[in-house]
Amino acid sequence: MLWTGLRKLGKELDFERTDSEAAGMLKNCFVKMYDGKNLKAVELYTPQMEDDDKDYIVKKLEANKIKKHEWQQNGIKIEFAEYFIPYSISKIKDLLNELVNYFAVKYPAQKPPCQHCGLQNKTEIYDLNNVSMLICNDCYKHFEKTIQDENAEREYIPNNYLRGFIGALLFAIPGILLAVLLFVFLNSLAAVSAIAYIFLGILGYKKFKGKITPVGAIIIIIAGLIMVGIGTTVAYSVYILQLLYKEIGFIYIDRLFEVLKMPEIQKELMTNIVISYLVSGIFFALQLNNMLKEWKGVKSIKSLRKIN
Ligand SMILES: [Zn+2]
Repeated sequence: MLWTGLRKLGKELDFERTDSEAAGMLKNCFVKMYDGKNLKAVELYTPQMEDDDKDYIVKKLEANKIKKHEWQQNGIKIEFAEYFIPYSISKIKDLLNELVNYFAVKYPAQKPPCQHCGLQNKTEIYDLNNVSMLICNDCYKHFEKTIQDENAEREYIPNNYLRGFIGALLFAIPGILLAVLLFVFLNSLAAVSAIAYIFLGILGYKKFKGKITPVGAIIIIIAGLIMVGIGTTVAYSVYILQLLYKEIGFIYIDRLFEVLKMPEIQKELMTNIVISYLVSGIFFALQLNNMLKEWKGVKSIKSLRKIN
């Protein structure tokens, strides 16, 4: 995400942007900035990152009371936490200037290496699927080719939605075992196996060459919903069988069906199914949201665009 504050700072620094980041070169560092949940993030990629450089950065962060950072390959991601009021853009700018000046003085003739191959080639900033990256020409060509091939392949894959659906159902079957185990041995909700149905479902969908599109994502969720119903029914049946076994000492399937036809048992089964759907529903909604984002549209590599 790129909100007004960082967008303005980006413009001031002569950066360009992707849909969600402002990025550019500042002296001899590659910098990208974006808004996150309750934070602004700045990633700084430097010509080199030795232990004394790290010490210097950490001291600066401590002096500015910035608690969170993550080391990256040849760089650092700094998080500026903000809870009620936005973090001061001018403070971010000051810190950034201090840091890039340090690296400009220490490594005046160097630039950060290519972020993909790590070589000290001539680099440029590209927008790779909405993430800015500093890469060399060879790596650009590599990405361009891979993306072209991938997109072409997507085009030619027929709409294998039915195959994908069957794959998702078949692969999710082991998830039923989890439902049974949870229900019979832990007396806990079989709905937890929804997680297994989705992960196995995605695996099955892909193995059966289902087309990776938003429709595909919905199909996997539908398969998952079906599996929740089946899984809970199977788990409950095994539970009843186990009770019958305790009572009469052997497994007697016909008796199971008689029991399952009893109104109070049916009611209990229905209650279990409804609870399973309620509990797994939240997980399904989150997964669907993630998958729709991830599986939408074609990939691309392109130049960044101007910040307006
Ligand atoms: Zn490269």
